[in-house]
Amino acid sequence: MAKVLCVLYDDPTTGYPPKYARDRIPEITRYPGGASTPTPKGRDFVPGELLGCVSGALGLRGFLERGGHELVVTSDKDGPGSVFERELPDADVVISQPFWPAYLTAERIAKAKSLKLAITAGIGSDHVDLQAASERGVTVAEVTYSNSISVAEHVVMMILGLVRNYIPSHQVVVEGGWNIADCASRSYDLEGMQVGSVGAGRIGSAVLRRLKPFDVGLHYTERHRLPAQVEKELGLTYHASVAEMVAACDVVTINTPLYPETENLFDAAMISRMRRGAYLINTARGKICNRDAVAKALESGHLAGYAGDVWFPQPAPQDHPWRTMPHHGMTPHVSGTSLSAQARYAAGTREILECWLEKRPIREEYLIVAGGRLAGTGAVSYGAGNATRGSEEAARFKKA
Ligand code: NDP
Repeated sequence: MAKVLCVLYDDPTTGYPPKYARDRIPEITRYPGGASTPTPKGRDFVPGELLGCVSGALGLRGFLERGGHELVVTSDKDGPGSVFERELPDADVVISQPFWPAYLTAERIAKAKSLKLAITAGIGSDHVDLQAASERGVTVAEVTYSNSISVAEHVVMMILGLVRNYIPSHQVVVEGGWNIADCASRSYDLEGMQVGSVGAGRIGSAVLRRLKPFDVGLHYTERHRLPAQVEKELGLTYHASVAEMVAACDVVTINTPLYPETENLFDAAMISRMRRGAYLINTARGKICNRDAVAKALESGHLAGYAGDVWFPQPAPQDHPWRTMPHHGMTPHVSGTSLSAQARYAAGTREILECWLEKRPIREEYLIVAGGRLAGTGAVSYGAGNATRGSEEAARFKKA
């Protein structure tokens, strides 16, 4: 029987279950590429329920306990005395979501003597030291595509929010004001701007596709060029490097995984290559952008706005400069955990667990590390190495 240790974010401050704003969510059965959404044998939840918090337990409790397995669910994930660290040594499986990541550093993997499988309920497994997982033979899997469209929608929202100065204008209303000039003096149309995506995988290409009707110039860069027919259909300009692309854009959106090659990609030098007054949107991973360089560029006016939902570490300490820097549109890490997305990645997590428990192969596209090396999606999109350095800082949030 397996011990499954699941780290999830806290319940709503008003308690669980919450009242839902809608009675149902649309049923999505296929992703844009044609692959099917998760196909577990069973499902112990109603799509649209809050599953990503502790009481939601990703809808796994009934399934695991009926099978005689032990399920431990906690939100207490950081620091040596945390429930996560206490329960880790004899856990066979660890599950966590990137929104509230259980950082699986090399030190923690060394202590987790029974660990065989680390599942990311969502997409992005950079909170796991992939190098250490490979060396220890731990399989790492994520629910590829489960929330890609959720994030793409968030990116489009954030681009429009920044360019049109939505959040400060909303704030004027909330505060009882009506100064139109305050709202208008930083508000532009997106039409005619040049928008570039770093990475044109599932999220990046969905962002580009959604922006096409806005009559903007569309640009992208990645290691492998898209087919000519896709470039033609979307009217894309390809750039051989990030540095070349950012110099040609008014808006840049980052849509690559975090691994050593992309860590700190947007440092002071890269940001200085961007046009004055450009907007930078990062829903990929906080560490891809240099924390202080972003804050400085907003303060100096070199960047007109920065938005995203990813930070490092998570949760971000109270004194993280991105909480207070000017002209930002940050949210906590939420874009990929809409109730719609949760239904898919909870089902995908169950599918992965069913396969693993029944010794059936896990879908190739869900694999990040298997058999001691990057595999499946991991082999295509990631590079070897470790991006968890500094994650112990997340414990500062708890102390605050
Ligand atoms: P994909 O693997 O589909 O796409 C990533 C793309 O990045 C690939 O096409 C890859 O292309 C490209 N890429 C990788 N390295 C580089 C590089 N050095 N320079 C330029 N391009 C590069 O992943 P998704 O689109 O599904 O997700 C991307 C990331 O978004 C995830 O890894 C995760 O970190 C983040 N994410 C965030 C969420 C949130 O809630 N905010 C939710 C889901 C994901 P190629 O190798 O061909 O160049």
